[in-house]
Amino acid sequence: MRAARLHEYTDDMSEALSIDDVDKPTATGSHDVIVEIEGAGWCQTDNHVVEGMWTDYVPQQLPLTLGHENAGTVVEVGEEVTTVSTGDRVICHPVMTCGTCRPCRQGEDMYCENVAFPGLTHDGGFAEYLKTNDRAVIPLPGEVDPADIAPHADAGITAYHAVKKATRELNPGDTAVVIGVGGLGHIGIQCLDAMSAADIVALDLKSSARDLARELGAREAFDPASDDIPAEVEALTDGRGAQQIIDFVGADETTALGPEIAAPGGDHHVVGYGGHVHQPSQTLVDGEFAYRGTLVGRYTELQELVALVDRGDVELRTSRYPLEEINEVAEALEHGEIEGRAVITP
Ligand SMILES: [Zn+2]
Ligand SMILES: [Zn+2]
Repeated sequence: MRAARLHEYTDDMSEALSIDDVDKPTATGSHDVIVEIEGAGWCQTDNHVVEGMWTDYVPQQLPLTLGHENAGTVVEVGEEVTTVSTGDRVICHPVMTCGTCRPCRQGEDMYCENVAFPGLTHDGGFAEYLKTNDRAVIPLPGEVDPADIAPHADAGITAYHAVKKATRELNPGDTAVVIGVGGLGHIGIQCLDAMSAADIVALDLKSSARDLARELGAREAFDPASDDIPAEVEALTDGRGAQQIIDFVGADETTALGPEIAAPGGDHHVVGYGGHVHQPSQTLVDGEFAYRGTLVGRYTELQELVALVDRGDVELRTSRYPLEEINEVAEALEHGEIEGRAVITP
């Protein structure tokens, strides 16, 4: 089968991956599930993997097939698999978990002590077929196209997970600030709108993204390059500040904004990454301000997100590309030229 593989870490996205001919995976383990990939989302994390940014965080051996936002049709199952069968259309939670360690028993899939992460630690879905397991797959409702929903496997679930934590702290009349209305941010706004009665304020440098934010439920959208964000948030909230901030950018400038616009007890959820957090510790003491990290989400949260998609509450903007154009997609994302999410259709 054909697979887009990383052979060497590089900053040059034009030659990031090569299309190789590799063996098709088979269900050798009793809980294995082989999925014929219909859609695999390209993600900023793929750019980071190509650059070698993940080598300090996860074990990685090259060559590696990338692709961690996968959906398609089950074509083979191990002998003990009972939850899905051949022909079922599924979205894949991004990690394969053991089910028996303590974090697994607490439902914390991302903390599994025996985790495998296709696309980061094992071969992923930029290929005709993917090997995953029965704990990762979620059957799709009738009308949902796997290629349309694939990016929810990571982008969607990550936005949903951060929003779910934020909504626990949001009462009607409170304010939630969303920083960055790109591939994740546009999902986050829809989840916030569906799950809370807070006022949503969106920040983005692009006017098209600010228009999209208003269309998807934001009450206001500002340009951090020209608008005085702390003054705008203060005016909108009668001086109280924003109870929750969800930062889909994670740059130095955006993490610095949190303490300036947060209400007492407020949280700044860091979803995007690449920058740093530079704050005096007193910032966190004063007003009990907190930075909270977000790593993907639970299996059950992906089920909840699929339910929101099935209800029509969350709509994903996607564009599709054949496997051969994968390096063009990598470059385009690097230059911020992808609208919504790019989906590779091997
Ligand atoms: Zn991703
Ligand atoms: Zn586990």
